[in-house]
Amino acid sequence: MDQLTRLESQSVYILREAYRKFSNLAMLWSVGKDSTVLLWLARKAFFGHVPIPLVHIDTSFKIPEMIEYRDQLALKWHLNMVYGQNREVLAAKQTYPDGAVSRIDCCKSLKSEALKHTLSGEWTRFRLDHNLGKYVEDSNREPYTGIIVGVRADEEGSRSKERYFSPRDRHNDWNVDDQPPELWDQFKTDFAPGAHLRIHPLLDWTELNIWEYIERENIPTVSLYYNQGDGKRYRSLGCYPCTNPVDSNACNPQEIIEELKTGKFVNIAERSGRAQDKEGGGLETLRRDGYM
Ligand code: SF4
Repeated sequence: MDQLTRLESQSVYILREAYRKFSNLAMLWSVGKDSTVLLWLARKAFFGHVPIPLVHIDTSFKIPEMIEYRDQLALKWHLNMVYGQNREVLAAKQTYPDGAVSRIDCCKSLKSEALKHTLSGEWTRFRLDHNLGKYVEDSNREPYTGIIVGVRADEEGSRSKERYFSPRDRHNDWNVDDQPPELWDQFKTDFAPGAHLRIHPLLDWTELNIWEYIERENIPTVSLYYNQGDGKRYRSLGCYPCTNPVDSNACNPQEIIEELKTGKFVNIAERSGRAQDKEGGGLETLRRDGYM
């Protein structure tokens, strides 16, 4: 078994184990490369059908190609696609792009708060109606108590502190210092009532593994990852006011793999183009409050 096949098997195992053990699961799909690989693995785990709703938190500031790609693929693959957003804050224009709050506060309300209330069902969710080809208000307000997320340990320091099965409390807060050990591939899947669970099937994948797998499996990805002729591409995707591309001539997954292997980015964080990580304590501050 080669390394990619080993990682694939482990992730498929975690996905099946999560589905078997927990009810009311959802899977976060940011439409970036990692969560799209996760979606691909879920299609493998469940033989082409994804029996878990896909949840997208729409800040309304995502790069437009991301939303187009999300909806095209959701229709093509018959995904149970749901999105949520913080409509109150958007209507009141209390956001960073509107010049009203800091990036950290904007991320907290448009991402962390929106996620928390979308998962709990307290705020309106919008579900893709495949017959109408558009989103309609979702009548299902049942809380999602477990969420499958495509974070990788090598991507950023705070993510390396996660477990495959990582509990949050009933307020979605993360106690980094009190997490179950996962030694010798033994996973704790019994948690106290009221715990909210995050499941991370991609924890051991690296950025290079992700691109090698995208290449091997021919997984469709957003065009923003590739140089379109201006010598730039996005290494990590997010909101357009806070996300910058990197200098690169790579036009396809093969060229990205070659670029990564040269060591060009070895001392440059994958999320270096994400401005919000550099403010107010960085990503760990946001993640303790529920950010992914
Ligand atoms: S990334 Fe920027 S625009 Fe998006 S939620 Fe955070 S601060 Fe707001």
